Amino acid sequence: MKASQFFVSTYKEAPADAEVVSHKLMIRAGLIRRVSAGIYTYMPMGLRVLHKVAAIVREEMNRAGAVELSMPLVQPGELWQETGRFEKMGPELLRLKDRHGRDFVMQPTSEEVVTDIARSELRSYKQLPVNLYQIQTKFRDERRPRFGLMRGREFIMKDAYSFDKDKAGAQASYQIMREAYSRIFDRFGLRYRAVAADSGAIGGDLSEEFQVIAATGEDAIIYCPGSDYAANIEKAEAAAPSRPRSAPGQPLAKTPTPGKSTCADVADLLSIPLRTTVKSLVLATDTLDEQGAITGSQVWLLLLRGDHDMNEVKVGKVPGLDQGFRFATEAEIIEHFGAKPGYLGPIGLQKPVRIIADREVAVLGDWVCGANEVDFHYTGVNWGRDLPEPELVADIRNVVAGDPSPDGQGELAIERGIEIGHIFYLGTKYSKAMEATFLDESGKPSFFEMGCYGIGVTRLPAAAIEQNHDERGIIWPDAIAPFTVVVCPIGMDRSEAVREAAEALHAQLAQAGVDVILDDRGERPGAMFADWELIGVPHRVVISDRNLKEGQFEYQHRRQESPQKVSSGNIMAFLK
Ligand code: ATP
Ligand code: MG
Ligand code: MG
Ligand code: MG
Repeated sequence: MKASQFFVSTYKEAPADAEVVSHKLMIRAGLIRRVSAGIYTYMPMGLRVLHKVAAIVREEMNRAGAVELSMPLVQPGELWQETGRFEKMGPELLRLKDRHGRDFVMQPTSEEVVTDIARSELRSYKQLPVNLYQIQTKFRDERRPRFGLMRGREFIMKDAYSFDKDKAGAQASYQIMREAYSRIFDRFGLRYRAVAADSGAIGGDLSEEFQVIAATGEDAIIYCPGSDYAANIEKAEAAAPSRPRSAPGQPLAKTPTPGKSTCADVADLLSIPLRTTVKSLVLATDTLDEQGAITGSQVWLLLLRGDHDMNEVKVGKVPGLDQGFRFATEAEIIEHFGAKPGYLGPIGLQKPVRIIADREVAVLGDWVCGANEVDFHYTGVNWGRDLPEPELVADIRNVVAGDPSPDGQGELAIERGIEIGHIFYLGTKYSKAMEATFLDESGKPSFFEMGCYGIGVTRLPAAAIEQNHDERGIIWPDAIAPFTVVVCPIGMDRSEAVREAAEALHAQLAQAGVDVILDDRGERPGAMFADWELIGVPHRVVISDRNLKEGQFEYQHRRQESPQKVSSGNIMAFLK
């Protein structure tokens, strides 16, 4: 490939809405362009990366015995009615009507269509097991699309669905996928962890997520450094010894609803012996006298100043609040919030913060938070749940670092991750709902045992960038780089020798099957190098008159600080 015939479009600056490094770099390197919220064009440079991701996924899926097909983007509402998901899926499901007024949906996943295929095409146990997969566009009307391709509304997923004659078979199919996933993610050269997960809306009871380790990840994962135990936060919390979350007979609202939060509510909450790590929160309540009567709106915990003069975090007399807390100074607040104290609106803060305590854990459960105003509070606030805007960012945990691992093999640790894959054992949830059966050995109709398996094809490069970048740009793992080698001739328009050597090397590499691009745009060396460093091509060969005279090229890996000379005769062997 020659750069003059390709499409290279880089920016010096990232757009203002780009918060995480992968989003910034994908825009700056010209991999994607935003069309609408959570909707992007995959530009030529980015599409090459996606094709490489897809090729690896496809290769390993085929190796694992799965068969590729492609299901429609626009799917009839009736199929989704059969499982009840037409309603149940809520606003994430994009529904549309055709000219006849019939309901359709844009596929966010494809259990319904694939189960429909199974019930009409798979008649006998002799045809099983079958694993059907596609690499297809998905649409989910995410509440908060963000971070570029990381959480798009339109994105590409590899989704696979296994059909077995019995539970043992389905579990074997699940294990085959689990191994295939490990091979796939190993090939991307990423640091990841498979963690036990809740099966969520899709259902079933055996489920694992593949999480790429990254500080910017939206998920919290719990693991035991001394053993194989690893789970996502929801799963870990569900498995943790139950700790009371509200006063007996007084369940907190699961879905926050604006309403009165009395000091009694908060006192209940705060006296709960629940250990919690807090990402950020606003907590407000009133102080109590000995009899429990409200004496004023005084107790604020890590709350920035509001209309009231509260630039200092105060610890009041609510039972439980004295466990490890102390006042935070304005300087500490600035340090933790990364901003000057100021009124941040009725709910929530924008940036993660650790609670200021003697230990890194607080003693709180579902929060009450809101403005220091009657009738303007939310109760039962938890991080990670679907909450109305503006987003609540209290990060509430029932399990914290240092808790004993459930397997007794040591203490738990927490890190953040990006979910790039998810595998589920579904059982007969969909086959029963859709009456999908085959004839078993005794000739009787039997429901398919199913599993489903997703990989975020467009999310994966974003996760790769979170792990592989520096101040100059992206550093692609070879496996998914848009180009593996860039040949950078210096003064190609002036020097016939440089032109010849560059074109010869480009041709030779291309001939040898290396994904090479020759930068023949005539850019000055500084600009040319900056572009390719930003784009993140892992291997660079510079050809100049000076070095050619000595029969040498300059080679530099994207991770190396300086170039090394390689004789032109050896360059091919060197690059292999
Ligand atoms: P998340 O928890 O991030 O919302 P999910 O659990 O809803 O993801 P699944 O239904 O498990 O997603 O889909 C399988 C895979 O598809 C996920 O593991 C993820 O890699 C990818 N994926 C899901 N939602 C998105 C999205 N909005 N943008 C990009 N990739 C996504
Ligand atoms: Mg989701
Ligand atoms: Mg998830
Ligand atoms: Mg998932």
